[in-house]
Amino acid sequence: MTAFRNLPSVERLVRAVEEQIGAEALPRTRLVEAARAELDAVRAVLREQRDGQQNDVNVVTEPENAYQAFERLVAAVRRRLHTLTTPSLRPVINASGVIIQTNLGRAPLSDAALAAMQAIGTGYSNLEYDLDAGQRGSRSVHLTALLSQITGAESALVVNNNAAAIYLALIALATGREVIISRGQAVEIGGGFRIPDVLRQSGATLVEVGTTNRTYARDYAAAINDRTALLMRVHTSNFRLAGFVHETSLAEIVAVGRQHGVPVLDDLGSGTLLPTALYGLSPEPTVQESLVAGADLVMFSGDKLLGGSQAGLIVGRKDLTDQLKGHPLARALRVDKNTLSAMEATLMAYARGTAPDEIPVWRMISMPLERLRPRVEAVANQLQAAAIPAHVVECASAVGGGSLPGDTLPSLGVALNASDLAPLTLDDIARALRTGEPAVVPRIAAEQLIFDLRTVSPQHDSTLFERICNVVKHQTTP
Ligand SMILES: *Cc1c(COP(=O)(O)O)cnc(C)c1O
Repeated sequence: MTAFRNLPSVERLVRAVEEQIGAEALPRTRLVEAARAELDAVRAVLREQRDGQQNDVNVVTEPENAYQAFERLVAAVRRRLHTLTTPSLRPVINASGVIIQTNLGRAPLSDAALAAMQAIGTGYSNLEYDLDAGQRGSRSVHLTALLSQITGAESALVVNNNAAAIYLALIALATGREVIISRGQAVEIGGGFRIPDVLRQSGATLVEVGTTNRTYARDYAAAINDRTALLMRVHTSNFRLAGFVHETSLAEIVAVGRQHGVPVLDDLGSGTLLPTALYGLSPEPTVQESLVAGADLVMFSGDKLLGGSQAGLIVGRKDLTDQLKGHPLARALRVDKNTLSAMEATLMAYARGTAPDEIPVWRMISMPLERLRPRVEAVANQLQAAAIPAHVVECASAVGGGSLPGDTLPSLGVALNASDLAPLTLDDIARALRTGEPAVVPRIAAEQLIFDLRTVSPQHDSTLFERICNVVKHQTTP
């Protein structure tokens, strides 16, 4: 270990770092700060060792010469500067086959959505300006008409995400009163988001009716009293009950609500505007169906099956959406111009009827095997030509995003067998793929690493090949 007197000056350290990263990379003050911080940290360690040597009997420091010690310091300063020069948020090639992956940013945006964000984000816009009247306008007007026309709703509102939509609706409509919900729907959505907790936070009282597996219309009716504010249905997106199960249909809940003058809130979760059954999937309830069944407010995510930006969409009765818009919390949950522009462009694809071809999530869902096969074969052949034993496998993609649990789409992937890669483990390779540039996230199956090309944009096929090639070759030939 270096002694105090052998530590270099800040200036010498800064110059060495500058030589490596270039003098233009960062302002000199940043380098000076990092060098100082590193030297301070080293001094603190040295001081600790000097004062408490008896505790350090296990610390074995490798003998190193002055040059090595100095280079180690330079590297440490560069590590401190890393966060300033390298984005933490990085692109990922998703080869996992899970189309809507919350951890990987959910829905990739369409070209039209990106173009709209570019057009609006780089300049000024009429975000809250009425161009016709030449005076202050409202940001909520931009999507209201479009959403209403697409879904058949009377009115609409967009907030930060679906969790915010639920929270706002409960606070604006049910604080201090009761919300009736089927016991089987008092669920956790994921990431610790639990419907009963949100209800409590909003100041409403949860009244669970029925049993975990069976709830009838009469259970709702029996729980209604003069403190009842809402009947709520929650789409149990991420699990399915099977067997002796009865959920009351939305239409039945609406009938009970109408009879007693209580509004019905429908949390659809993902929500979809297109019928999933057309694509060989189980039918996920559509937004239009909920409105036809008579739900007073329907809430769903903007970045799940809709395929747009992160947002919570609320459609339904105008008097209720107005109440939500007028609540002080609406300001805290409002969306910015980027979200609005991307969402408007995404919804316009639905209006044009071109959503299945334009929106990445739907392109991936509808991608036929005949289109995947030549891509998968090309990547596998390239890898084989590079002496990497890859082969084509049949696999199954998932929609994800808490929608359609258990449903899969037949897919094709490029596979590497664990036995062909020994002594490397699949985890070694997966880790190297994740931490390199660009990051690649494959699926680790039993004894195989699978790259499902359904979730990979075709323009990334060659990059994927290069990453696999580099990682396997580098790791096997040290
Ligand atoms: C995903 C989901 C939510 C939360 O939506 P976010 O847009 O992630 O906030 C709420 N309810 C259900 C049923 C969901 O599936």
